[in-house]
Amino acid sequence: MADGVRTYQQYIDGQWVPAASGATFPVHDPSTEEVLARVPDSGPADVERAVAAARRAFDEGPWPRSTAQARGRVLFRLAEQVRAHHAALAELESRNNGKPIVEAEADVTDVATCFEYYGGLATKVSGSTNPVPDDALSLSLKEPVGVAGQIIPWNYPLLMAAWKLAPALAAGCTCVLKPAEQTPLTALTLCGWLEGCGVPPGVVNVVTGFGESCGAPLVRHPGVDKLAFTGSEAVGKLIARQGADTLKRITLELGGKSPNIFFEDADFEAAVDGALFGIFFNQGEVCSAGSRILVQRSIYPRFLEALVAGAARIKLGPPLERATRMGPLVSREQYDRVLAYVELGKREGRLVSGGRRAPGFARGFWVEPTIFADVPNTARIAREEIFGPVAVVMPFEDERDAVRLANDTPYGLAAAVWTRDLNRAIRTVKALRAGVVWVNHMQPTYVEAPWGGYKQSGYGRELGPWGLEDYLEIKQVHINLSEAPIGWY
Ligand code: ADP
Ligand code: MG
Repeated sequence: MADGVRTYQQYIDGQWVPAASGATFPVHDPSTEEVLARVPDSGPADVERAVAAARRAFDEGPWPRSTAQARGRVLFRLAEQVRAHHAALAELESRNNGKPIVEAEADVTDVATCFEYYGGLATKVSGSTNPVPDDALSLSLKEPVGVAGQIIPWNYPLLMAAWKLAPALAAGCTCVLKPAEQTPLTALTLCGWLEGCGVPPGVVNVVTGFGESCGAPLVRHPGVDKLAFTGSEAVGKLIARQGADTLKRITLELGGKSPNIFFEDADFEAAVDGALFGIFFNQGEVCSAGSRILVQRSIYPRFLEALVAGAARIKLGPPLERATRMGPLVSREQYDRVLAYVELGKREGRLVSGGRRAPGFARGFWVEPTIFADVPNTARIAREEIFGPVAVVMPFEDERDAVRLANDTPYGLAAAVWTRDLNRAIRTVKALRAGVVWVNHMQPTYVEAPWGGYKQSGYGRELGPWGLEDYLEIKQVHINLSEAPIGWY
């Protein structure tokens, strides 16, 4: 491009190609609002081409027929490439998403770990023998589910790509991945290493485009066997409906309104720190954000005061500066959405911290860490996912009250409980209806442990062996060992 902005191409069938229409769209640096790059504006024709390539690679290609050991080695090599390009990937992620560089670095490390984990797990997939009461050998074989469509969000662009690609590749599937339109750059960068690492053409295809024009055709495509989605509840429900026509296997990792529960006996300093980290880390653009802070009434005033003081100390700054703890939100759309919730919150609760565009930044999508106190759990800001740096704080009386409030949400992705009373911690963990529960911490996530939601936070589990299972079918094989005829006539 004449203006010096790079135009990326998308990766289909082992080739770098423009959109069939030739159209591109810009992606931005949300801290400056400048155009960072252009990418193909892909539509149904591009999806068609990508699915055809993935279909061919699955139906006729070597990948699903390769040994698990060979696939595992490919994943290890991919992890090595990610580690070798750690700094550059983190910088690109930070520029494109706006997240602080130190967080982007942690993400890239997690990406490498994810490829390594599934590289190892590839060789641990095994079926079983079934003790049928006949002269026969009955087996259960695990086989790759086929072509996987994978649609991911913008909050952890490369990590979400890894969570999708790594288990699919370990299983022997082929993939069509659609990154979020806001943040496609790191996933495209990864494609540059696929061939060199031994991924055959057509096994991984990445199409760049918008939700309706590029995501929806992938969801509806009869050539796609499985669809894995991470994103908003609204789009998740649409995908569940649209995917039903072809009965593709669907896994959904959707939003949350996760409670972070503080009992009076919790370690006070650690608790305040955990409450702030739980909601403001990654600008609150986290599906498991601890956006409802539930505090026992006896410590409520002191806790609130400490939260407000802590929020004021969080360092907002340019994403690439190492001291920065919060960057801008990802896009103008997200900025407008969050500030609209802040306005609503001023009517529904008491604003005690933030609530404005962060001062000191001429351009970019900065929102102050924002806290509303005394918010009833029926308020919209207490029920709807905001996906930004906005916390609601509410008091509770006792353990029963805390659990009732915590579970009074349509969502069930995550929760955390802070207490030094072991029995209370365990009782609360068991009573919470959420797919992930932390005790005396919030947010640590490990590829070895399951990730996914209860209730309207979705279905299926990612990570660990559960994440791999969702890319496998089970085939029953019956081998008759008897020489005798069936003898039914
Ligand atoms: P947000 O609105 O916060 O960006 P979305 O759930 O809309 O969250 O986006 C998550 C991913 O889903 C993105 O890759 C987006 O392009 C995609 N997406 C959005 N709408 C649709 C749709 N109708 N069908 C398929 N994918 C979609
Ligand atoms: Mg959307």
